[in-house]
Amino acid sequence: MISPLDLQPSFGFGDRLGLATPGHIAAVRGTKFAPIFAQQSVRENARTGRTPQQVMDDARRAVEDVGWDAPWGADADHLKTIDDIPPFVEAGYTFFTVDPGEYVDNAADSDPLDALRGKTAAFDWDELSALYLRDDDEQIWGRFETETLLRAAVKYGKAIQHAAGMFGRLSEMKDGFDFEVSVDETDSPTTPLEHFFIANELARRGVKFTSLAPRFIGRFEKGVDYIGDLQVLDAELARHAAVTAHFGTYKLSLHSGSDKFSVYPLIAKHWGDRIHVKTAGTSYLEALRVLAKYEPDLFERIYALGRERYDSDRKTYHVSAQLDLLPETSDLPALLDDFHAREVLHVTYGSALAQFGKEIKAALVKHDDAYYDDLQAHFDKHLNLLEVEK
Ligand code: ZN
Repeated sequence: MISPLDLQPSFGFGDRLGLATPGHIAAVRGTKFAPIFAQQSVRENARTGRTPQQVMDDARRAVEDVGWDAPWGADADHLKTIDDIPPFVEAGYTFFTVDPGEYVDNAADSDPLDALRGKTAAFDWDELSALYLRDDDEQIWGRFETETLLRAAVKYGKAIQHAAGMFGRLSEMKDGFDFEVSVDETDSPTTPLEHFFIANELARRGVKFTSLAPRFIGRFEKGVDYIGDLQVLDAELARHAAVTAHFGTYKLSLHSGSDKFSVYPLIAKHWGDRIHVKTAGTSYLEALRVLAKYEPDLFERIYALGRERYDSDRKTYHVSAQLDLLPETSDLPALLDDFHAREVLHVTYGSALAQFGKEIKAALVKHDDAYYDDLQAHFDKHLNLLEVEK
């Protein structure tokens, strides 16, 4: 049944086409993860032309057809304003991800101290100093000094306030829901000390959040493996996990969580069961893999359109693929394993669906068994690595 998942380890399967849930069910069955079968952001809905209700209906239909009796959730992803909330509440979503990223002051990392002080006029600095500038022992996530506290307060203060406002509004509309705060799409990483500040400030404002998505160091780009120093990330993930363990009330959430195969063992090791992972576009890429195998003509047209649209569609996404490094299309479906092709195809889904949506869906219905098998194999790779705690 659809319900909040609270602190169970959980895994989000975004499905932009509304046809992938049977494959997701096959993969998640028998694992420790509670699934999110409906998960779509406001941005995705705009690009796919689907409504929160349609996304929910597609997931619900598959759950009933295939038979999934355990709890599952529906994630209203990356809600930015109060006006974004009602259609998701009306459609029965259970998990609300609030993204106050526009209120994060990225300049606070490098502002001179005078400028920072000028920006703290809105805060009760005496209260903050009393709370955070204490002579406690240094924790694994660090300890605040005046300067780091100033930077954290300026960087995240308004975002925390906005998230708390969104939580308050949602609480008036609905009881019993999972609430996530995500700052994963900001320019600068969230340090473990800043993570502590965010979690503590949210708690102080009475925000009951079940997960938190910091922006981790390195690059978590869409549909490809992690780009960065794994040893540095390993140490950083341990510190983030220590903050989460300190509070004990929420999970860490990994956005752009698909295809990060080199990172999963680290996450499994440090986060244990306090974990939520979000994936979305990778299921669309698996759909394209099926087309590449069985409907290569249609695939070639999608790929050509992707090349054309990449430069404009990539805006608002964290990707670094370069058009001049794209491979030739002759080698299908291996093309779907190429870094540049994956990112280009990933972020141009809206253009592809606008132009070829009907054909794509018809082809997937025709080859549905192949699609489900591909999805299961692809997510088995994710979930197996995430379940092994070393
Ligand atoms: Zn995200």
